[in-house]
Amino acid sequence: MARSPSELVRPEILAARAYHVAEAAGLVKLDAMENPYALPEDLRGRLAERLARIELNRYPEPSGRLLRARLAEKMAVPAGMELLLGNGSDDLIQIVTLTLARPGAAVLFPEPTFAMYRANAVLSGMRPVGVPLRDDLSFDARRFVERLKAEQPALVYLAYPNNPTGVLYDEAAVLEVLRAAEGVVVLDEAYHAFAKRSLMPRLAEFPNLVVMRTVSKLGFAGIRLGYLAARPEWVGEFNKVRQAYNVNALTQAVGLFALEHLGRFEEQAERILAERAPLAAALAQLPGVTVFPSEANFLLVRVPDANRAYEGLRRQGVLVRDFHGAHPLLAQCLRITVGTPEENRILLRALKEVV
Ligand SMILES: *Cc1c(COP(=O)(O)O)cnc(C)c1O
Repeated sequence: MARSPSELVRPEILAARAYHVAEAAGLVKLDAMENPYALPEDLRGRLAERLARIELNRYPEPSGRLLRARLAEKMAVPAGMELLLGNGSDDLIQIVTLTLARPGAAVLFPEPTFAMYRANAVLSGMRPVGVPLRDDLSFDARRFVERLKAEQPALVYLAYPNNPTGVLYDEAAVLEVLRAAEGVVVLDEAYHAFAKRSLMPRLAEFPNLVVMRTVSKLGFAGIRLGYLAARPEWVGEFNKVRQAYNVNALTQAVGLFALEHLGRFEEQAERILAERAPLAAALAQLPGVTVFPSEANFLLVRVPDANRAYEGLRRQGVLVRDFHGAHPLLAQCLRITVGTPEENRILLRALKEVV
């Protein structure tokens, strides 16, 4: 007799939930920190031409050699460091976690944070340890370092700035963690285009520092491309874990194209940034709404009733993320991506109706 999934599947997988993505068709999409601006008109034909020449019958260059070289220049990766590409930074998080997954080893991260750190720790048989942020969502470096010394984690994840809070931890606090950690510290700089703070220039000082970024929030969420920079000793190990062709030929080509026109996408990021403060101010004017400070392209807001506000927004055609119930510190919180001026107006009008 065939045994059922509940008898055969690993218990931690049975207990997990698949990553849920809300249906967004026809909605103003402010739920996933995407760049709301399309690929500029004048670049479309050139990209199409470039893609048409790709030999789709051949396997891609396995490590994205050319793309890594261009990234190293454009992103000022210090000499002596290696780059590793991923099918989005989600892929890189999985690779790094699996590489360090000695049974029972700990993975430490502040909480609430990006859900993938915990999910990957669980799936790879590691011990996830979340250290709570303060009530105001700031980073409690002393508490974190104390826990770090007690747990001796093989791996630490810090999102810089953090998602879903938008808070950029003090650099001094991050350095304190780096000095105290004996394991690998991944600094996830997914919002680098907006926060513009980075420890990339200081990679050489910390042998176990890994700086991770993605092009997703810069206008290329659809191609799935992330990259990390670290010492060659580390990248050599990560390379044994990644799938041989984890970044496909189309993604490599679009990635190169994006770097050639990087200024255009950075301009788009600036337009988004210019909207953040006015949107935050307008949201804070609404009755019962608290806006947390953000260095990213989204705002975390606390409303009187998050589930109701989420549903009310959806009925009016606006999709955001509801974090109520995800973590005690996120009670009654919604995360709202900064959109175009028009999208932000629609959001404000709709939210006024429901709070
Ligand atoms: C969005 C996000 C990512 C995911 O990036 P992908 O490259 O799209 O997989 C990683 N880390 C943080 C903190 C994020 O917010």
